[in-house]
Amino acid sequence: MTKIAIIGGGASGLACAIELLHNIENKNDVEVTILEKLPRVGKKILVTGNGRCNLTNMNSAVSGFRGDTAFSQYALREYTPEKNIEFFNRLGLYTREEDEGRVYPLSNQAASVLDALRFECERLGVKTICDYRAVHLKTVDTGVTKKIVINNRDRFDFVVVACGGKAAKVHGTDGDGYDMLKMFGHTIVSPAPALVSLNCDEFTKALKGVRSICKMDLVIDGKKELENYGEVQFTDYGLSGIPIMQLSRFVSVSPSNDIKINLDVTPDFSKEQIWEYLISRRNVDTGLCENLLSGIMNKQLCITLLKECQVAVNKRVNTLTDDELKRIAKIIKNWEIKIKNSRSFDYAQVTAGGVDCKEFNDETMESRFVKNLFCCGEVFNVDGDCGGYNLQWAWSSGRLVGKTIGERINNAQN
Ligand SMILES: Cc1cc2nc3c(=O)[nH]c(=O)nc-3n(C[C@H](O)[C@H](O)[C@H](O)COP(=O)(O)OP(=O)(O)OC[C@H]3O[C@@H](n4cnc5c(N)ncnc54)[C@H](O)[C@@H]3O)c2cc1C
Repeated sequence: MTKIAIIGGGASGLACAIELLHNIENKNDVEVTILEKLPRVGKKILVTGNGRCNLTNMNSAVSGFRGDTAFSQYALREYTPEKNIEFFNRLGLYTREEDEGRVYPLSNQAASVLDALRFECERLGVKTICDYRAVHLKTVDTGVTKKIVINNRDRFDFVVVACGGKAAKVHGTDGDGYDMLKMFGHTIVSPAPALVSLNCDEFTKALKGVRSICKMDLVIDGKKELENYGEVQFTDYGLSGIPIMQLSRFVSVSPSNDIKINLDVTPDFSKEQIWEYLISRRNVDTGLCENLLSGIMNKQLCITLLKECQVAVNKRVNTLTDDELKRIAKIIKNWEIKIKNSRSFDYAQVTAGGVDCKEFNDETMESRFVKNLFCCGEVFNVDGDCGGYNLQWAWSSGRLVGKTIGERINNAQN
């Protein structure tokens, strides 16, 4: 009997177990066991996509991924979004594509994605042991073969570390995988929170709850690193919303103390149009400045911007000086917000960094140090953009490991 342990019953672990058994010719001679730390498998899947599970993205090109992108290419090409959708179709789960290539289950319920995976595991006879925390790995030589031993007790022919990263500890992931892989000499690229909100210095609490479509530049040490566009959510600690979260991994991994997000809060208007708007308001408007920009943005945002550029909100619009108008025009198109740091792993959706991919074979995901030891999913130094990319990586890498182990067992049996 060939025994396979998958440490972690999350997205990649479940996909790995299913793909493995789909590929096995003689299922009676293998035992696949998922060892899961929490009382149930797949807890994190339930909260993905705000409970709807954005399970992949049709534009899942390599450009949507960070970390060791060269390593991730093979798995992502072998298991494209179309192929992962087919995989779910075979489990009876159908999907719908929405804006920007985001794919959701037709049910609109993350629970149905987890159910599809769980029921297929049950049907295939996968053994699931919950409340099992793996903390220790080693190999032993039995004389005939080498076995991998978990927690100094349980022996397996193959072990897959599918423990995830450090993000969202409440869903079971707090970096155990890194500690176990270090026991075999693997290197960990320093983990950092990604897809997370940003803390700002001295940020005005008055903006809490305001949302605004903005264009934004991430500027580190005076150099523009990246730009983005979309709805920014202002909070009592700083900035949030999908486009901000997309930029967050670059904040997390940067050693610099000079990080800014420059917001253009009226991306639909050019600088010239904003200037003309301000001049025209000054010509006709005898009201207070606090309402000056109410026609083009949220009123609280207008008040905040005026305060930031030292224009009195109770001044009459028709008395604004040219210099004051210039300051207002400038801040509307380029509001420089100093970033303190990204929020902690507890608030992050994924982990940037992780086990160093160079120490693994990209076509099998097997360790170059220990035969029959594999990894898949977020434990690797691979992270994706918001929009289904991270689950795409979890399914693709998990399935690649499953297929590899399945084929290896078939070859040994034949
Ligand atoms: C709030 C939130 C929303 C998200 N939404 C999306 C989305 O819509 N689309 C998307 O693509 N991505 C999304 N993600 C990211 C995505 O969920 C993860 O990237 C993906 O689940 C990673 O898969 P994984 O299998 O590597 O790890 P995980 O799914 O995190 O699973 C790891 C499993 O291992 C278990 N485990 C950990 N340590 C041990 C141990 N020592 N012993 C035994 N078991 C252990 C954990 O309990 C867990 O069940 C979201 C993440 C969060 C937190």
